Amino acid sequence: MTKQSERFHEFMPDKVWKWKILEEKMDKVLALQDYQEIRLSVLQDSAVLNNGITALMQGAEADHAVQSVLSISLPESNLSLLSLRPEGTISVLHHTAKITNPGEVHRFYYSGPMFRKAEALKQMEFYQLGVELLGSESILSENEVISLGMKICQELGLKEVRLDMNSYGCTKCREPFFTDLRGYLEKRKDSFCGLCYNELYANPFSETRCKDADCQHSLKSGPQIGDYLCDTCKANFNKVKNIQANLGNVYKVNPHLYKNFAYYNETVFDFVATHEGREMVIGGGGRYDYLSAQITGKMIPAVGFYLNLDILFEIMEARGVFQTKPLDFKVYISSESENLEMMTLQIAQELHTQGIKTIISPEISTTAKETSRAKAKSCSLMLIIREDNIREGKILLRNLIKDHQDYVSLKDTVPAILLARKALKQE
Ligand SMILES: [Zn+2]
Ligand SMILES: [Zn+2]
Repeated sequence: MTKQSERFHEFMPDKVWKWKILEEKMDKVLALQDYQEIRLSVLQDSAVLNNGITALMQGAEADHAVQSVLSISLPESNLSLLSLRPEGTISVLHHTAKITNPGEVHRFYYSGPMFRKAEALKQMEFYQLGVELLGSESILSENEVISLGMKICQELGLKEVRLDMNSYGCTKCREPFFTDLRGYLEKRKDSFCGLCYNELYANPFSETRCKDADCQHSLKSGPQIGDYLCDTCKANFNKVKNIQANLGNVYKVNPHLYKNFAYYNETVFDFVATHEGREMVIGGGGRYDYLSAQITGKMIPAVGFYLNLDILFEIMEARGVFQTKPLDFKVYISSESENLEMMTLQIAQELHTQGIKTIISPEISTTAKETSRAKAKSCSLMLIIREDNIREGKILLRNLIKDHQDYVSLKDTVPAILLARKALKQE
């Protein structure tokens, strides 16, 4: 059985500095296009979440999604049941419906941990970026969002990322497709396994993840949404393809691009990376103009995407995107006498006001021992505070990089350290 620690993230400092680089690069691209960060609560009201999920999905998928939510039972029966957020779109729409006026466009993003019960009911945490452009039906918005996702992947070092696209049409043109596909399923019931039959019947766009060759073959030989698109949807999809091609984004039309969410309309897309010879979906999204009306009662046309940051992080690490951590200039402060706590902290504070990082040794021990500790902590300089020196108004400053030491007067300590830092930086 997988250990708890492998399913929940516990990032230690050796990973955190890399995550900060990833987030910094991501935030920079998003800020360039005026996407505003929002911070959603990790805890969500289970009832609100369930309503949202049943609007997002239907039938067996909705049941599955509801079951995959991690909830917290409270002993106090008068408190509402809470769940750990499995995604962010539902909260974002509820929030936006409260603040938005007709005609307003909002650009939001959020990132951080999401939680689900994974296969075999294992609980898991995963990091995700969610981007939503709300309030616009235009083709320009759709392309803005798709290009933004591509740009983020490229900035993170995944230059080869490709788009898989499809159109789910509008309510007008998808109805005849649904009817025909259901008719086809009924006629060819024997060529599908029970799971595919039930899931596809409930939502013809569902991703059944069934590997059965017969199911896949039968599905491919059946009706395809691409043949049902009305003139408007067809023209819109052609425009999206043209714009993406002209922007230099490689795309493939995948008529079998399925999403487990029935709420998408018109353009849907996946970001596909090739890593170690294997293609993998690292994110995706689409337009969802009808969803807000269903869960908030307010019509807000929308387009958005998610990126799986765990997968992105792994690929970035494997590709050496994170170079060696830049060495900090740090000063190790040790004292060889008792009762010099005040002096030690005062010197450290003075260094902090100059923006110099310090590591204070809490112990009284020999210079040799402290020197090896300072080196282990990658410090460049070391201050050794001794009572007899202090009485003479001086302090021992050891340069661990140059391997030499000097006494400096107490008042010259900070200038001497600044000078040493400058000299080391210039090398
Ligand atoms: Zn249409
Ligand atoms: Zn099947």
